[in-house]
Amino acid sequence: MRLVFLGAPGVGKGTQAKKIAARFEIPHISTGDILRKEIKEGSELGKKAGDFVKSGNLVPDDLIIDIIKKEILEPKAKNGFIFDGFPRTLQQAVNLDKMLSSLGIKLDKVINIIVDQKEIIKRLTSRRVCSLCNHTLSIRPEDNHKLCPVCNKGELLKRKDDEEAVIRKRLEVYEKQTSPLIKYYGQAGLISDIDGLGTEKAITDRILDIL
Ligand code: AMP
Repeated sequence: MRLVFLGAPGVGKGTQAKKIAARFEIPHISTGDILRKEIKEGSELGKKAGDFVKSGNLVPDDLIIDIIKKEILEPKAKNGFIFDGFPRTLQQAVNLDKMLSSLGIKLDKVINIIVDQKEIIKRLTSRRVCSLCNHTLSIRPEDNHKLCPVCNKGELLKRKDDEEAVIRKRLEVYEKQTSPLIKYYGQAGLISDIDGLGTEKAITDRILDIL
């Protein structure tokens, strides 16, 4: 199973991609997670990508394509993968097509999760991520979580790019640079729209129905 999860920031791509990947025992490849790890470690790639991520802009295509070239050749990706947050530009999508065809493989589906902008802003401003296990959750003002409810050890942190001004920038970048991919994959007959409102389980079930 080779899938792309498409959708604006905050629609729940990461949460759903993780679940579906676990279900099919294939790797969940999130370019955002990879970049955040590199930035945290202060690697060369992290240094090059840091300012783009912080400001809500896209990291240059060549850096992203190098990441994907490596991931796609990993033995664990042999039987499939889920790309979450990649491709994000037409250039990335065209490069992905080239990489896949040189390997003699094809995408099975592109899952396009849809949520309205007001809900996205609400979700992202209340999103917290565990500093240790990366668990992501939404907190309400009355919640008193200090530690991650999953690993009970990590601190719950707000991503720097989840500040409202940066969220608005990311949504603008999505509209301009990423949303044209809906047409691109639509013309290839690969896209399936998923309503991203509802419980986590309801949304997972909608995706499983399509797959
Ligand atoms: P995400 O976790 O998917 O929301 O990504 C966080 C940030 O990482 C984005 O706002 C971009 O700055 C960068 N990023 C992640 N994936 C890509 C990509 N495919 N192309 C360019 N930049 C990316």
